[in-house]
Amino acid sequence: MKVKLWGVRGSIPTPLTSAAIESKIIQALSLAKPGDISSEESVRSFVSELPIFIRGTYGGNTTCIEVETTAGDLFIIDCGSGIINLGKELMKREFGRGHGVASIFLSHTHWDHIQGIPFFAPLYVAGNRFNFYSPIPDLEDRILYQQKNTHFPVSFERMPATKRFFQIGTDEYSYINDVKLYTKLMPHPGNAYGIRIEDGDSIFVYTSDCEFTINEIEDIQNYEQFFADADLLLFDSQYTFQESVIEKISWGHSSSSIAIDIASKFNVKKLILFHHEPNYDDEKLSGLLANAKTYTSVNKKVSDDLTIDMAEEGKVYEF
Ligand SMILES: [Zn+2]
Ligand SMILES: [Zn+2]
Repeated sequence: MKVKLWGVRGSIPTPLTSAAIESKIIQALSLAKPGDISSEESVRSFVSELPIFIRGTYGGNTTCIEVETTAGDLFIIDCGSGIINLGKELMKREFGRGHGVASIFLSHTHWDHIQGIPFFAPLYVAGNRFNFYSPIPDLEDRILYQQKNTHFPVSFERMPATKRFFQIGTDEYSYINDVKLYTKLMPHPGNAYGIRIEDGDSIFVYTSDCEFTINEIEDIQNYEQFFADADLLLFDSQYTFQESVIEKISWGHSSSSIAIDIASKFNVKKLILFHHEPNYDDEKLSGLLANAKTYTSVNKKVSDDLTIDMAEEGKVYEF
């Protein structure tokens, strides 16, 4: 299975500001020694070794994940603004000729998970086929509503690709071609659903958005089937621990320490901290990742085998 991250930001798209770019350039130049900038090759080598918060960005697009199964089937999970760049890539392939087929899973219909749909170019090409899957019974109505003419000039019906909607159950397996899907209701205002994809021996679990509080942790065994033995877990870690337990209770999101506890308990191999807070810049996110790694090393209950990444737009995982 191959998983590519196209959108990792929570709540609202967050473009880099001019001031942020200037700050990155100043930090980079401040670190450079004369030998680092003596040739184009040395500049490239120097830049490639800078930390991501100086040389680049974790990304500002809202949630969208591409999954390619071993059989070559395409799954798209959530349709935040990240789906726009995915759409540009797909248009270079069979989707540009109207021969594309993809399954789309929507965790829920908060704006940051559907706002890319009106700008997803493959939906404007007749012949492409998109099958939408979700436990949400009125999903089609909600998508149609987003593109009423008071909100957008092109209605969803007038996008010429073929769109079909399928409601799938929770706490049970659904089968699409060669893969097994298992969905689970997550604690989140207005409800959201996590999805587990099993492709042969490879397991990918996606849970955005979710707020795991002390209540859920007490009953965490209810989630065992959903999380168990995942090769890759994308988990909502929008807040710091302080925010999640004191300042932003019931806002619908979790922290990295809760994500780590759950990942470790259920034998997850790699945890990706995801759905970044829009108010946090790249340096803050790098600091949160460092804190998360410290937490895993000092907490004896956390498995030594668990590895952690901060979700980064454009990154690909194959397992
Ligand atoms: Zn969200
Ligand atoms: Zn949400």
